[in-house]
Amino acid sequence: MLIEDYDLEIFTPPCDPGAERYAARARLTVDISEVLPYLNATLRGAIYYPGANALTWKKAGHSLAFHAYELAVSNLEDRNGAEEELKTVVDLVNRTWERRAEITPDNTTRQRPTAMAIFKLLPRTNCKKCGEPTCFTFASKLAVSQKKLTDCPPLAEAQYSEQRAALESLVIEAPSTSKGG
Ligand code: SF4
Repeated sequence: MLIEDYDLEIFTPPCDPGAERYAARARLTVDISEVLPYLNATLRGAIYYPGANALTWKKAGHSLAFHAYELAVSNLEDRNGAEEELKTVVDLVNRTWERRAEITPDNTTRQRPTAMAIFKLLPRTNCKKCGEPTCFTFASKLAVSQKKLTDCPPLAEAQYSEQRAALESLVIEAPSTSKGG
């Protein structure tokens, strides 16, 4: 096991007082830099900064950050949720480290697509079936993993098959399965 113990801190980010969103931070006693390329290879949508020994990932609207001696989660609704999410992240790091022989590490830095790049590939009918007022609003949320491609029903129609294929290769979506924690 890579991370066996850590100091936990739960707080409301000072840049957003009163917002009732919580963050949690784990201060580690081990350097987890070596696991970052393996996380980068397995977490769809992760952004790895090799020079800074840091990796960020969006998961179901939460922001996760992995540093050499620190893990952090933010944008959680309550303290318990923040603590539980942090435990999940610690488990993810440990599982990935244990599986590293099966994973080809990835040292590249991927960029998130812009909302405009996504918008250009959407049906652009503003039909609101995704629950958003406009296709651009949907694109903005898709760009930060707050929406999924399947939330836009028209994309399943045959006439949009080419755009959908292009979006699938472009868009970063956080997985909801155990592959990504
Ligand atoms: S469901 Fe798709 S086409 Fe309709 S508004 Fe949302 S993004 Fe646009």
